[in-house]
Amino acid sequence: ISPPQNSDTHIFRSKLPDIPISSHLSLHAYCFENLLSFADRPCLISGSTGKIYSFAETHLIAQKTAAGLSNLGIKKGDVIMILLQNCPEFVFSFMGASMLGAVTTTANPFYTPNEIFKQFTSSRAKLIITQSQYVDKLRDSQENHPKLGQDFTVITIDDPPENCLHFSVLSSASESEIPDVTIHPDDPVALPFSSGTTGLPKGVILTHKSLITSVAQQVDGENPNLYLKEEDVVLCVLPLFHIYSLNSVLLCSLRAGAAVLLMQKFEIGALLELIQRHKVSVAAVVPPLVLALAKNPMVAGFDLSSIRVVLSGAAPLGKDLEDALRSRVPQAILGQGYGMTEAGPVLSMCLGFAKQPFPTKSGSCGTVVRNAELKVIDPETGCSLGYNQPGEICIRGQQIMKGYLNDPEATANTIDVEGWLHTGDIGYVDDDEEVFIVDRVKEIIKFKGFQVPPAELEALLINHPSIADAAVVPQKDEVAGEVPVAFVVPSNGFELTEEAVKEYIAKQVVFYKKLHRVYFVHAIPKSPSGKILRKDLKAKLATT
Ligand code: AMP
Repeated sequence: ISPPQNSDTHIFRSKLPDIPISSHLSLHAYCFENLLSFADRPCLISGSTGKIYSFAETHLIAQKTAAGLSNLGIKKGDVIMILLQNCPEFVFSFMGASMLGAVTTTANPFYTPNEIFKQFTSSRAKLIITQSQYVDKLRDSQENHPKLGQDFTVITIDDPPENCLHFSVLSSASESEIPDVTIHPDDPVALPFSSGTTGLPKGVILTHKSLITSVAQQVDGENPNLYLKEEDVVLCVLPLFHIYSLNSVLLCSLRAGAAVLLMQKFEIGALLELIQRHKVSVAAVVPPLVLALAKNPMVAGFDLSSIRVVLSGAAPLGKDLEDALRSRVPQAILGQGYGMTEAGPVLSMCLGFAKQPFPTKSGSCGTVVRNAELKVIDPETGCSLGYNQPGEICIRGQQIMKGYLNDPEATANTIDVEGWLHTGDIGYVDDDEEVFIVDRVKEIIKFKGFQVPPAELEALLINHPSIADAAVVPQKDEVAGEVPVAFVVPSNGFELTEEAVKEYIAKQVVFYKKLHRVYFVHAIPKSPSGKILRKDLKAKLATT
């Protein structure tokens, strides 16, 4: 993207002053920098077993894991895949890989074999750390898939099936065996996948510097945005494979000395019981979880008085829902963060979480994080806009991704030559510097905060022998926020049913990418250059 020649660029900044950021460190050194002051405090609490790991233990096991990975041949720059639900081993593996200068790509364990192998192959991972229940998917024998035991090693955190190793090969290694590596701040450390503003999922290169900057923007300095304290117990029910949970929950807590309560999966009864038992004080959630907490009758039977902060992110949170939750946890500060994987991920955060809280409005995503610049541009002209004028949100700062893995074209279409990352979100900044997100110009569909890339579903649909053309767009949904629906053009002379198309897709994708409706049409509206006119399809949906 080339920026327009307009000299009146209006740049929005945090209300808080910039801070010095230790971005010369490596991520693990930064996260554990203050380890000695809280070495014996709880760091990780396993929600399923109740086992508690202190900061000192967590650090030591991560070091052993680094040594174990090195013994298995993992070197600086190599990629490992973590395919796990939230558990302590996730943390040991991610931090251990960082200590080696290796890179972690995190994937959803509910993915189908095809989805896993696409990410695995594109990231060129060498090893997968997972649970035995997912190993069958890794044995999928399709010709184009890498072969377990031959092309990659599998380590399971529970009883290892045939040809797999147990996690103890990592965690029982001697920490003295970690090789000496020099890590540069610009070296990659995490490789989450995101489809960004268009197309298929791509590897998002997050460096040591980007993640340190993002964490520092949230929890470092005199009056941090996300004021996490050593006494805090932070709920980690959102999957760690998504950058929101990995960064704003795990890494921020490690840095601040707060305990992380790891929950494998969301189940409302178990969640409420754990909040009560462990006196959770900070809950990072997504709008569907806010809905459950605000509306589920079971909530009334539990003591939630320990919660002092509820942070919602990953998708828009409506004012009604925000107010409904407020009445359930009246003592808590409730606010939103606005993030995007490519942005490291946090762009703005409610300052209500700060040590000296600033009042924030309902529906606001807070103000831009410190040490960063935000601008709003006219999507047509690219010119920057002032207060209260909606346009595309752009962000600049050390926290944003280095780029997409092996995709310079997608990188150049997302980060312009002046270093602005274009989000594809439409929003505005009001007179109090608060950011409001009102729409999205990018393709992505968000089902309960999960990404559903239309291009991925369109590619599968077009592969169907009886489908000539297809387009996938979001439809509003009260519970999920949005659901994917398809417009399909059947090939000449072929009979297709809605159920058959839905089933065809459902077999190939993780649950949240399933199609909710299929509409048969004669043609997909396209621009002269062949781009799907998604706006027209969304307008059509609004009238059906
Ligand atoms: P992801 O990369 O999966 O984190 O998705 C990023 C996208 O989620 C953003 O570009 C927004 O479209 C959406 N999003 C994240 N946080 C919010 C929020 N607080 N309000 C509205 N949309 C959000």
